[in-house]
Amino acid sequence: MGDIHDERRDALEAAHRHALEWLGSVAERPVRPEIDVDGVQERLGRDLPAEGLPAREVVDELAAAAGDGLMAMGSPRFFGFVIGGAYPAALGADWLVSAWDQNNGSRQTTPAVAAVEEVAASWLLELLGLPAESGVGFVTGGTMANFSCVIAARDAVLRAKGFDIATGGLQAAPRVRFLAGDQVHTSMVLAGRLAGLGPPQTVGADDQGRIDLDGLERALAEDPDAATIVALQAGDVHSGAFDDFVRAIEVAHAAGAWVHVDGAFGLWAAASPRFAHLVRGLAGADSWATDAHKTLNVPYDCGVAIVRDEAAMTAALGAHAAYLPAVASISDPYDRTPELSRRARGVTVWAALRSLGRSGVRRLVEGLADAASALADGFRAIPGLEVLNDVVFTQVCLAARDDETTAALGEWLRAEGTIWASSSTWRGRTVVRFAVSNFATDAEAVRRTVDAVGRGLAAVTAR
Ligand SMILES: *Cc1c(COP(=O)(O)O)cnc(C)c1O
Repeated sequence: MGDIHDERRDALEAAHRHALEWLGSVAERPVRPEIDVDGVQERLGRDLPAEGLPAREVVDELAAAAGDGLMAMGSPRFFGFVIGGAYPAALGADWLVSAWDQNNGSRQTTPAVAAVEEVAASWLLELLGLPAESGVGFVTGGTMANFSCVIAARDAVLRAKGFDIATGGLQAAPRVRFLAGDQVHTSMVLAGRLAGLGPPQTVGADDQGRIDLDGLERALAEDPDAATIVALQAGDVHSGAFDDFVRAIEVAHAAGAWVHVDGAFGLWAAASPRFAHLVRGLAGADSWATDAHKTLNVPYDCGVAIVRDEAAMTAALGAHAAYLPAVASISDPYDRTPELSRRARGVTVWAALRSLGRSGVRRLVEGLADAASALADGFRAIPGLEVLNDVVFTQVCLAARDDETTAALGEWLRAEGTIWASSSTWRGRTVVRFAVSNFATDAEAVRRTVDAVGRGLAAVTAR
């Protein structure tokens, strides 16, 4: 196999070449993958090889087998789920994170990456307008961020009732009431399940998916003494709508509840004065979850759990053992996430923010929202199409005259390959759902997307 340095250099050079080839093709290749899981597995071969292969050949084999099965998620015309691309600086930093291979748990053993993440955390809090003293944990994504915050919330509201979950566990604990609007994201539902709370009790929502304030007030009044967590939402996945944080937080806090905000992509509205009105009052909550791998465009995976009362976060998520170095007065990375061992994923956040600066983040957020409005305008100009939601941020729900046509349009678009958007149902109607979260989605991408939609509608209505 030769010298380890040569082998490493060969593997990294091969990865570098394949990476640039892939990235260079992303903007123009069909967005959809060309082959499915079976196709990729056939190319890989399913049998465990008896003998090994030199590193470079492994990387070459992987790239050759996987290439056609990749979805061009980084395409400026990929609008599925809420995804986002990867800024060059963040991607470069991510490679270094792998090469450094630090287990970012303790400030004492991995000072460099702990320091970078601490700087990234404080920049994030400033950009998002959140309390500077908050605890920040870099987790895999929005779901784990919601989960981490719900765990901190659960323990804190029980502690306030005189119950210590660290010793008593959930088995003997009083009930924790968990409330949310009807359009609560499935990720919050999962967080509630994982935390042992079950799915949230829903209190209603308005036509854009915003939590119903009267419903929230009524639910809170039903059992005024219950330990309570209220989950609000910054950015509904269909409409992009934001809850009324000023009023919802006021009502929830008056009832002694902990308020958590799922702002996987919506929290970033705070970084632009043009959109800050959407998150007015948001900083009054107790915890927030967001994603860096969506709006901030860092590579997967990177979510952020933020808790105002850092002590509540570390009490719930911290781990202690004689062999784990710690300084009592300062929390360590592993005190703020559910993990002990993890990669230093927050380094990519530092890199993206360093390359953008405050003004760049503002332009990023405004660019995404502007592209969404331009898409909506383009769609509305096509006879037979309508946009169902109020386009307040980055989400657009498109519908044709009837559900069948809309479903056919979605399928046509995904098969044709110029763009990719998922189908969904919203307010009882089939929609094609566009989430703009890639920095590369520019005016040209919008033009080509609107054009593809027009061609698609013509094709499916001519059938
Ligand atoms: C994407 C998303 C989540 C889940 O985040 P992951 O990073 O996919 O785990 C939660 N809430 C909202 C509103 C989202 O858009």
